[in-house]
Amino acid sequence: MIERLRKNGNLSDEELKAMIESSSDDQALFEAADSVRRAHYSTDVYIRGLIEFTNYCKNNCYYCGIRNSNRTVQRYRLTKEEILCCCREGHALGFRTFVLQGGEDYFFTDEWICGLIAEIKSLYRDCAVTLSIGEREHDSYQAYFDAGADRFLLRHETVDSDYYRILHPDGMSLENRISCLWDLKKIGYQVGSGFMVGTPKQTTEHIIKDLRFLQELQPDMIGIGPYIPHQSTPFSNCESGDMRLCLRLIAILRLMFPCALIPATTALGTVDKKGRELGLKAGANVVMPNLSPIKFRNQYELYDNKICTGEEAAECLRCIRKRVASIGYAIVTDIGHVKKFSCLNSGEGL
Ligand code: SAH
Repeated sequence: MIERLRKNGNLSDEELKAMIESSSDDQALFEAADSVRRAHYSTDVYIRGLIEFTNYCKNNCYYCGIRNSNRTVQRYRLTKEEILCCCREGHALGFRTFVLQGGEDYFFTDEWICGLIAEIKSLYRDCAVTLSIGEREHDSYQAYFDAGADRFLLRHETVDSDYYRILHPDGMSLENRISCLWDLKKIGYQVGSGFMVGTPKQTTEHIIKDLRFLQELQPDMIGIGPYIPHQSTPFSNCESGDMRLCLRLIAILRLMFPCALIPATTALGTVDKKGRELGLKAGANVVMPNLSPIKFRNQYELYDNKICTGEEAAECLRCIRKRVASIGYAIVTDIGHVKKFSCLNSGEGL
């Protein structure tokens, strides 16, 4: 089955179910995924600098620590100057992609966001700007794109409408989230999507639907990570997602989407000390170190015990570089190097 998935990039629902639910072939699955990642990306690992610029959010997703109703969070917003300072530091460290992530915070108007994007792009002409700010109107997405934004991360979270209701309160809409993703694609963004693994009451069938949706959407990046409870959410008593299942899904994604950028996420590194290393060995090829100012790091708490909240960006990068090297891969920051891979346009990996 693994061989067929590698060859055809696809399996039937029944076969996927068997593969997702059994851990007996994990080693062979991870090795197959690693060989496909090496064929396309050698041992390269790309870095994306994450700037968590606001933890205000109008939404109330049951799983998320910065949900609007959580009164225990100390809210913060970075100023433009603080964000630019993160970019300056990141650029000096070799980052060429800045990911602006936040809750859905309409304090930041389209005009303000466009101004910020234009400024980053004019200061750092060799850099990509990625937005991860949730659902907005088509015309807002278009305006950010016109201002210079290159990429957008918006995990679909789930495509099952009943399951969507278990994770989100009334007033939020699955249809809207999915139509946002298609809007982003149509506008011309490189799009990242994905979902959490092991959210309460998630079934294999839900996950298979997610994989099918990703096959339709064909995103450039696919981010998955284990669900981790946050103490001040309605799901506080639920269990974390299973790391092995998450690793298996990373490997399946690599075999289904040989060219995709797949991050070894912070959540994976939080459920297990070696989670990110294991993710990379199972087919992931991106890490997203944190560039946010240290004084706000632990306020962007989507889940409990999030790692990397106490280290400066430089220290974070040094640590992840060492971890990546310890398993035989290498973080790349050299543009000349990236060009040779057929999966990416020139410089895109950076
Ligand atoms: N507001 C933006 C950014 C969300 S944070 C948006 O809506 O896209 C980025 C991702 O973190 C989310 O898409 C979700 O999949 C993940 N996340 C949120 N809460 C989490 C939790 N408790 N455990 C693990 N991942 C979580």
